[in-house]
Amino acid sequence: MNMYNDIYSNAPYPLNYFLDKICNYIMLNLDEDYNIIGFNEKFNNLVKVEKEDIKELKLKSVFSNINLNEINFENNEIFKKFNLFFIDEIIKNQVYNDYICYIFELRTGYYLIGIERKPEQSEIITKISKLNNELANMTRELKKKNSKLKKANQKIEELLRTDKLTGLSNRRHFMEYFAKIISNAKRHSLPLSLVMCDLDKFKNINDSYGHDVGDKVLENVGELLRDETRDEDLAARIGGEEFTIILNGTSLEDGKNYAERVRKKVSKLDINQISGNITISLGVSKLKESDDQESFLKRADKALYKAKNNGRNQVCVL
Ligand code: GH3
Ligand code: MG
Ligand code: MG
Repeated sequence: MNMYNDIYSNAPYPLNYFLDKICNYIMLNLDEDYNIIGFNEKFNNLVKVEKEDIKELKLKSVFSNINLNEINFENNEIFKKFNLFFIDEIIKNQVYNDYICYIFELRTGYYLIGIERKPEQSEIITKISKLNNELANMTRELKKKNSKLKKANQKIEELLRTDKLTGLSNRRHFMEYFAKIISNAKRHSLPLSLVMCDLDKFKNINDSYGHDVGDKVLENVGELLRDETRDEDLAARIGGEEFTIILNGTSLEDGKNYAERVRKKVSKLDINQISGNITISLGVSKLKESDDQESFLKRADKALYKAKNNGRNQVCVL
């Protein structure tokens, strides 16, 4: 049976069509158990259910607050009026899901006609202020989450530039910082010294006392370098038992004194059974006008090589 004929009974087809176009109401045809057996175009357009499945719907699965027991007609009543709410999941994106509905009985069955209930101004204001509060809460939550995210990102950044064992900067961070600091020192004609150091005969320590003790020595050297290094300087672990320290605004003389201080402190490190056997060799160099990153590093490395060749546990300057 034609859907429109269900609803508009005997009206001729063009009239059905135009009624649906101009009348902004939903209309349902119901059987004696109030199951949907017909519906108009507006209802069809409003619900998310496919046209062919609408007739499977019960009134209870369309309106959240319908009570079928209340639809009994008494004392010659010809209709019942309800304020019904569409179930959110069934209705397409609508600001209001609130309908004033009339249910009445005709020869051809029960009918439901519903008109969207336009809210009062005070209701709109209440709704807007509620939404505003929700927005304010969400903004606050978002701010909190952003700040947490920022902290997490900072932590990740920190982990990416840190050597896990010693807590010093890693090689990657050292190289980045080194490039920046050289160009800055050159631009402002500031003195800049570089210390390269390498633990002496470290393989022997590992072999004699075990890798774990070796790690402990590296941790202690890391801590010592952190304590000896000013905030404006940078100490890094750039290899297994190799370290480097960038000394900003520091002359060659002061760089040498710094390295000597580190050497002495390392030789006094007291770790388990191996106190007195831990020594370090250091090379110090000062940035020259003609230097680039590579030549500066090479010279400091050469100074370290010299310290090793001269018998280790000493500071050489180049
Ligand atoms: P030199 O005085 O010439 O520097 O002698 P060396 O034994 O220190 O030098 P070599 O390069 O022969 O050996 C370095 C040793 O450092 C070998 C390696 O097992 C050890 N090493 C490198 N990284 C680590 C580490 O993370 N933990 C420990 N325990 N040992 C490490
Ligand atoms: Mg070594
Ligand atoms: Mg080495």
